[in-house]
Amino acid sequence: MGVTGPPGGGKSTLVARLVDAYRGQGKSVAVVAVDPSSPFSGGAILGDRIRMRERFLDAGVFIRSMATRGNAGGLARSTGRVVTVLDAFGHDVVIVETVGVGQEEVQVVRLVDTVCLITVPGLGDDVQAIKAGVLEIADVLVVNKADRPGADEAARDLRYMLSLGHSHSGWQPLIVRTSATTGDGVPELVAAIDSHDAWSRQSGDRARRRLDAARVEIETLLREELLRRIEAWRGEGYAAVLERVAARALDPYSAVEEILNAEAG
Ligand code: GDP
Repeated sequence: MGVTGPPGGGKSTLVARLVDAYRGQGKSVAVVAVDPSSPFSGGAILGDRIRMRERFLDAGVFIRSMATRGNAGGLARSTGRVVTVLDAFGHDVVIVETVGVGQEEVQVVRLVDTVCLITVPGLGDDVQAIKAGVLEIADVLVVNKADRPGADEAARDLRYMLSLGHSHSGWQPLIVRTSATTGDGVPELVAAIDSHDAWSRQSGDRARRRLDAARVEIETLLREELLRRIEAWRGEGYAAVLERVAARALDPYSAVEEILNAEAG
């Protein structure tokens, strides 16, 4: 599953709660935290996250953080591979935690089966300017910090925003109120995630999503591989073709055809 939302919304606190809940059910859990602000790669930075520290000692929990290195597409790809490996290792639950609610997150969360979007009360009329694209991909909407005033209003705003859009998949996103610090609402969140899980398996939506993710991954790799081959080839004809395009003697479309034919031959 993916957990995304604005910085400070309580994602880490909530993820720690989810880890505990799944461990309580005897499930093994892996967490991949994607941290765009981190200049580090690897797991070092997460070691400083006190809330997670005790969970490092639990053999049923695997935690890894990934830095974005300023490459959103690359991040989605490398995160995807990490998730695939964790899945193959047989973790019962894999949680991908991403910061923010932008385009990068949309790419990253395409990899997961269930998307939880975290919001908090009191960030303004526009529900902290949640972009329609992000709301659209959320399967479970979490109003965290529900111990604070305004949680009911936030939940109502979300319900209203949902009513404006339409569900592509037929799933009606669930809205859950939590307080990650006290643990209130966490069982309800786990139940909401379970319920989406059951629905997506049964409806075929999960298979569709995984097919979509496979297509995106393969097409990205194909693009890279093609460029790599052309670059490795770079026959004498290559420079000549570029020169002809620059001199307006050849149109770029024909140039691409020529290069592909030359490389293939
Ligand atoms: P993240 O940046 O989204 O990962 O947010 P954190 O999990 O680091 O939480 C940010 C701050 O909000 C921390 O000080 C948390 O203790 C606090 N926080 C998280 N969840 C809640 C909650 O449900 N209620 C209240 N009052 N504070 C919370």
